[in-house]
Amino acid sequence: MDADEVLRLDRAHVWHPYSAVSSGVPVHVVRRADGVRIVLDDGRALIDGMASWWAAVHGHNHPRLNRAVREQIEDMAHVMFGGLTHEPAVRLAERLAGMTGLGRVFLADSGSVAVEVAIKMAIQYSGRSTLMTVRGGYHGDTLGAMSVCDPVSGMHHLFTGMLPRHVFAPAPPDDYGRRPVRTAPEPDEAYLRELTDTVEARAAELAAIIVEPVVQGAGGMRFYHPAYLRRLRDLADEHGVLLIADEIATGFGRTGEMFGCDHAGIRPDIMCVGKALTGGYVTLAATLCTERVADRLGVLMHGPTYMGNPLACAVAGASLDLLAERPWREEVARIEAGLLDGLAPAVHAPGVRDVRVLGAIGVIETDRPVDVAKIQDIVMGHGVWLRPFGRLIYTMPPYACAPEEIDMITRAMTAAATAL
Ligand code: PMP
Repeated sequence: MDADEVLRLDRAHVWHPYSAVSSGVPVHVVRRADGVRIVLDDGRALIDGMASWWAAVHGHNHPRLNRAVREQIEDMAHVMFGGLTHEPAVRLAERLAGMTGLGRVFLADSGSVAVEVAIKMAIQYSGRSTLMTVRGGYHGDTLGAMSVCDPVSGMHHLFTGMLPRHVFAPAPPDDYGRRPVRTAPEPDEAYLRELTDTVEARAAELAAIIVEPVVQGAGGMRFYHPAYLRRLRDLADEHGVLLIADEIATGFGRTGEMFGCDHAGIRPDIMCVGKALTGGYVTLAATLCTERVADRLGVLMHGPTYMGNPLACAVAGASLDLLAERPWREEVARIEAGLLDGLAPAVHAPGVRDVRVLGAIGVIETDRPVDVAKIQDIVMGHGVWLRPFGRLIYTMPPYACAPEEIDMITRAMTAAATAL
């Protein structure tokens, strides 16, 4: 099919994420994805600066991941999980349990569903139905997950009023100052007091506190100090409330530690993972919990059709093998250094509020919403694919990016920030 026909059918029938059918934002036809590049119909090979939404950490078309899919498909592509089990699922569950210290694994089919499952676990465990969530947080687009997002950050404001009401903890302090930084300053005592007071006032009704460890993703790409997370863990323990860590974006090395929680040295009671779990190949997520939580909550009424999908589990296993073999800590540290260095000049561009980098995440925040089509045009001219939103131009590249490729990304982002 030629590109014009793809675009005609796309315009005629297809929804795109977070858009109206007539949004007018340009759409590009992609033909292949190989290594860290996405190849468009016109032959342009763009560095995938988004790792296809945090997921493709090893790059695309990876021989090991391809082989895992090919070998698994010869045995079975899918069978129902109810009353049946198989090696790819149990191997993966054992692996995840070992990595997290959380012994029970529910294999869900997307990140949002993993969050729904976590919320249901917490409600059943505690017999309470209110959650505490954090201002600026984002946990997915299904109704339950939306209910623990911050409506103020704007993605779901249409649904305010029809979602379960939860309690909001104050957003972690995010005054980074005008210089490239790795994290926000440590929260001061007055701030931690406010957080403590908020939890204490509502503790008796709380089933759980849900939080994205050290980086709030789609709610604003805010970084915060690990001391905030440690305080949440302490408060949850003091009040007998569960702590849910949503590691869907931060898990598997993205922030420079295997999990965001590792920056704070804490273990949650429930953890959600997804995105990079399959290296960007097949949709799969998981909700993990302690044996204590699992034993007490009884029957968990959740069972997606594609639960434990063998293809997804097999490729997730291969992706975790690759992660274990690759020097990801050094790679992510090198990317962090490249992003800090390359994005530093953007701090001085008029209209830039700040620049922040943690692990393989680089963010330029501007003082007003960016023109998405214009920014994309500029970065594509530099051979890079990014998807800015709101006031953010940001990247979370594959760990497989070479230093020159990180330079290309930072040059593209800086050019975009300078042309605001
Ligand atoms: N939680 C976080 C922190 C996320 O970044 C996302 C994905 N944007 C989700 C949940 C939802 O995951 P999915 O898109 O796979 O439903």
